[in-house]
Amino acid sequence: METEKKIIGRCPLCGGNVVKTCKGYRCEHNLGDHPSCALNINGIIGNRKMKDAEITELLEKRHILLDGFATKEGRMFPTVLELADDGSINMQPVIGKCPHCGGDILVGSRAFNCSNYASQTAPCSFAIWRNIGGHQLTLDEAKTLCENGITGNELEMYRDDGSIYRKRLGVSPDKLQIIKV
Ligand SMILES: [Zn+2]
Ligand SMILES: [Zn+2]
Repeated sequence: METEKKIIGRCPLCGGNVVKTCKGYRCEHNLGDHPSCALNINGIIGNRKMKDAEITELLEKRHILLDGFATKEGRMFPTVLELADDGSINMQPVIGKCPHCGGDILVGSRAFNCSNYASQTAPCSFAIWRNIGGHQLTLDEAKTLCENGITGNELEMYRDDGSIYRKRLGVSPDKLQIIKV
């Protein structure tokens, strides 16, 4: 009889099934004495318990933006988890380059901020709010804004009275803020 296992997704390294274990998530080809795959993802990353659906997205897209990580001191922070080619999981808070000054754009809890925000010589105030008009920006949308200066699709946003409108988001001509276009 086949042993029952909970399949979470497909391994991006070898194409095998990734199954839920007592400690986290493991590729079915990373079992036994001579495993042919190295994928083994801890169920707790950065003092944060991972959800099955988050691991599924990480396996599919190789990166996922998440809130709720915590330092040893208990300070909460968001970051992007990246699944590297060797199967390791890295925190990668840099999502792109600042359209205004070329600095790094970092994930923050309320906005994607420029790393030169507090620079002594050339401070930069460029930021992309993570919530614009009730729309929660995805990682891909924020990356596209940094790279192309405009989102690919119109995004659904909401007025105070609840009515829906759809706009693309773009970088303003002075490259200091995000505008609806
Ligand atoms: Zn594998
Ligand atoms: Zn900047």
